[in-house]
Amino acid sequence: MLAGDFTDNDAWRLAAYKELVSLVNSLFSNFLGDYCYNCQSVIGRLPEAENEAFVLLEGVYPGCCHRGAGDIFRLEGQDPERMYLASVIISGLQRERELRLKNFELGTCGGTYRLRRQRDDSVITGAHCRYFSAAGCTLGVLKGPLCINFICPPMRSDLLVVCAGDDRLVGPEHDFMFIYRSLAIISYDCRDEVEREILLFRRKLQALENKCTAFLIERQVQSLFSLYN
Ligand code: SF4
Ligand code: SF4
Repeated sequence: MLAGDFTDNDAWRLAAYKELVSLVNSLFSNFLGDYCYNCQSVIGRLPEAENEAFVLLEGVYPGCCHRGAGDIFRLEGQDPERMYLASVIISGLQRERELRLKNFELGTCGGTYRLRRQRDDSVITGAHCRYFSAAGCTLGVLKGPLCINFICPPMRSDLLVVCAGDDRLVGPEHDFMFIYRSLAIISYDCRDEVEREILLFRRKLQALENKCTAFLIERQVQSLFSLYN
């Protein structure tokens, strides 16, 4: 079979993808979720925030969840043959997302927001991702690559403090935990290689969680967010 040709027997790739997303989700729910729920104050730590402060006029502060973000399946930085999630994963995600969205009442996801830029009083209107609700993302393990690959600079800098400056676990802002490589392996390599990669990723994530836990115990605080924000 040529690379990129898939059959129903490749449905295990979707299962592996969802397993990887569930691992990232658990890290966020255990240690990082309160950053995103309080995004506006986290963004206030960026150097440019001094000149670019916004007041929320209407809706929910968007954070990273802008219209279209959840539907981008590109794998940045991979070789030209591996620049998108495998088609079997994309079609499986789309199928399961349709079913999931049916469980949400019309009008509870997506929507718009309005912000006023303090510098010049201009009003900015934007649209949320169609899977975004006031309680956060509705997709669970069906999120796209763009939703698990990014950590903003304040979040990354706090994680680097936890790791004593060692960025081998955390990785870059736009490739958190070097996740694009893992996603490319899940998409295109053989099943043994995929299982190895999931195991490796699980170990890296456990190591990061252990560092976070030890850090919080040592500082006697409940969360990284409460310490730095
Ligand atoms: S990653 Fe950072 S910028 Fe994105 S939603 Fe979370 S706190 Fe906000
Ligand atoms: S799919 Fe979820 S995490 Fe991704 S942009 Fe949409 S609401 Fe945000």
